[in-house]
Amino acid sequence: MDPQGEFTAVHPSAGTRLRTAPPGVLPYYLAVEAAAVVLPFAVPSTAPTAREWLFFAILLGSALAQAELSAKAERMQRFLARNPHVSLSSVWIFGAALVMPPGLVAVLTVLIYAHAWLRTADVPGVRPYRVTCSVATCVVSAFAAWAVASLFDGGAGAPEVTGVVAAGLTFFLVNTVLVMIGFKLHDPSRPWLSLAGSVPENVLDAATLCFGAVAAVLLTARPGLVPLLVLPLVLLRRGELGRQLALRNRDHTTGLLTIAEWRARAEAELERARRTGGACGILMLDLDHFKRVNDTHGHLAGDDVLRAVARAVRGEVRIYDAVGRFGGEEFVVLLPGIGQGHSAAVAERIRDAVASLAVETAGGRRIDGLSVSIGVAVHPAAGSGVDEVLGAADKAVYEAKHTGRNRVCVRR
Ligand code: GH3
Ligand code: MG
Ligand code: MG
Repeated sequence: MDPQGEFTAVHPSAGTRLRTAPPGVLPYYLAVEAAAVVLPFAVPSTAPTAREWLFFAILLGSALAQAELSAKAERMQRFLARNPHVSLSSVWIFGAALVMPPGLVAVLTVLIYAHAWLRTADVPGVRPYRVTCSVATCVVSAFAAWAVASLFDGGAGAPEVTGVVAAGLTFFLVNTVLVMIGFKLHDPSRPWLSLAGSVPENVLDAATLCFGAVAAVLLTARPGLVPLLVLPLVLLRRGELGRQLALRNRDHTTGLLTIAEWRARAEAELERARRTGGACGILMLDLDHFKRVNDTHGHLAGDDVLRAVARAVRGEVRIYDAVGRFGGEEFVVLLPGIGQGHSAAVAERIRDAVASLAVETAGGRRIDGLSVSIGVAVHPAAGSGVDEVLGAADKAVYEAKHTGRNRVCVRR
């Protein structure tokens, strides 16, 4: 996670005003800000050389060009991201930390953030105190990276391999830990692990640092080539936006489609089926005695089971069959082009897969003996609209529950 995301993302606490923030937040922010102001200028250094000013100008120019070209994607992403999204500006800041004195890196960071701030000042919920803290977090991370890189300095002015790797890890760790502490203070109930960002977010973060290392090497060898990195970064940002757009349609626990997205796809498929006279199967699944799983093993283990069931269901259908989470422990499956007999067979396969599941939970428990009741209804036999067919599948589930569970019932 890059802290810049803190002021561009719709994090639950992003809109919190400082005076209503939990205790501990203000002292923490002040401490990080004090460190950002003091550290880069506390180390003895000579005035920047002409070469360093050239580096500064190239990095600043590239950063502003990248930010301008990505402005639309950044704005869209702001409305999508649940968590702070990764900002790619750390490319230039980390690159700077490898080849420039810390004071100049700090000034560059402030200018890059100030530009981003001006471009997003109209965003509701953006709090200046969070922006300030984001800048400070980045300055401190860059300072730590600079300090580590200078331990390995080969003296030739070009960053040395081990130093670059160590500095990259330092930037990443300091940044992540500072951001995590901020989140934890805002919401102490969130487990630490959930504050570390998702795997794709961290991979993107690592990728920006790789680009930063390349920028630093280019600067020392062929500074005029550094702006060539701008376009790939703009594309990287667009790719990330695409990923976020796809995620928006996904249920957070299971990764299945949200019910709204599933319904939209079901409506489109039934419309097609009506036009072409084809069939379309709908399955409704309800886990049996799921409350017992929660009661016995806890809610988190219950969530692990839901994820395992979702995987099992996905494993039994085709790639273009839409699987959605209808609610709690209920799932829906759309089987375009599939008639009654075949739909029932798919349902039977799913029932069987769930029955043979043995779920290893994150807490180290093993849960088996699961079962699911499945209702099958097919367009056009059970109705022509989504609600009608879904209603019929729901009645079939009810029948499956009342005839002993762990079974498939077909609504004829
Ligand atoms: P039945 O065989 O009749 O369906 O029994 P059941 O216990 O599965 O039925 P019921 O619908 O009464 O209970 C569903 C339970 O699912 C209740 C609720 O605690 C649990 N549940 C709903 N959403 C979630 C969730 O997101 N995570 C977890 N772990 N449990 C959930
Ligand atoms: Mg239920
Ligand atoms: Mg149930």
